[in-house]
Amino acid sequence: MKTSITRPRTRLLDTHDVARLLHLMGVPAALQELAGILKEDYLRWPDFDKASRIGAYTDAGVIELMPITDGRHYTFKCVNGHPDNGRYGLPTVMAMGALLDCDTGMIRLLSELTLTTALRTAANSALAARTLARPDSRVMAIIGNGAQSDFQAMAFRALLGIQDLRLYDLDQAASERLQRNLLNAHAFDTPFRIQICDSAAQAIQGADIVSTLTAHQGPAQVLTANMLEPGMHINAVGGDSPGKTELDPAVLPRASVFVEYVPQTREEGEIQQMPADFPVVELWQVLTGVAPGRVGPDQITVFDSVGFALEDYAALRFLRAAAERFGVGSWVDVTSSQDDPRDLFGWWLAQSVHEPEAVRA
Ligand code: NAD
Repeated sequence: MKTSITRPRTRLLDTHDVARLLHLMGVPAALQELAGILKEDYLRWPDFDKASRIGAYTDAGVIELMPITDGRHYTFKCVNGHPDNGRYGLPTVMAMGALLDCDTGMIRLLSELTLTTALRTAANSALAARTLARPDSRVMAIIGNGAQSDFQAMAFRALLGIQDLRLYDLDQAASERLQRNLLNAHAFDTPFRIQICDSAAQAIQGADIVSTLTAHQGPAQVLTANMLEPGMHINAVGGDSPGKTELDPAVLPRASVFVEYVPQTREEGEIQQMPADFPVVELWQVLTGVAPGRVGPDQITVFDSVGFALEDYAALRFLRAAAERFGVGSWVDVTSSQDDPRDLFGWWLAQSVHEPEAVRA
């Protein structure tokens, strides 16, 4: 007797779907939910089979493949970083990824991860800052006001209550765009208080938290040691590839440095400028209480973030649950669907008779 089985299906989310999801949820709520899922996954760090991402580098930028699994799901993201992409009408960072069931290998979710990368990076930065920054932090400087910056501001407001922003970008129009977007978002009861600054030094002076989000192929010194103030938390996001850094190396010995995954950050993060035994602590160790985070109000902390596969695992998990809850996305076939799964050729024959002539030619 033939038994009928329900085949697992593949949900597809394109950028419009994810945008819709964020409108339905509201960005602050989405960031809160994603940060919660991310923290859950950091807390079970030892469950994951981890590896540094695989990068393909050219003079123009990098394309990276980021796989990870916990034995239940396998996820990967393919992401690029091309700082001069504006000249082609493309963003600096674009990404797509998938979540697969480990029991079958079936792809359960195929998704855009461009909007999602901005969301997950912001949630990750804010989660780290909530753990490492002074609890009385009120003012944040954002250096580099491109695609990631709006989400960062929203996340620091949603998770840490940061309302006062100081913005600096080499391109003042970028700061004006960021200011306009944040004031138009109407996501919080009271608006952000925003000051556009003439230099990084002006923006950083008196800030409790400094987020560096610049895109530049090569070593840069967006924040130098003379700009440091006691008790500052630095969220260094833009230095994320070999040879691509944002901090003056003299900043690092003056701070306690926290990272995502040591082997990858030694190659890609700010600490690539330091000796191989430069001391760092992984964020999961602080979140689980294995290692201390901030130990005093005058300590300077640096979150040397490069972006790790676990963050995209959490993001794909978040997207899957949210898309199901709100009924967003569509179903796509990524495999054949015949009664005898081994009769792939027979399935193809049956399909091909329906193909238009032009396709068969
Ligand atoms: P973007 O190109 O949209 O914006 C970058 C902005 O930085 C631009 O407005 C540019 O004018 C400005 N800038 C460049 N050099 C500057 C300088 N010296 N001082 C002030 N401003 C400067 O890029 P994006 O998508 O916002 O990404 C920002 C950076 O974050 C990139 O380097 C990207 O690779 C990185 N990133 C890291 C993670 C992570 O997880 N760590 C995730 C996403 C993106």
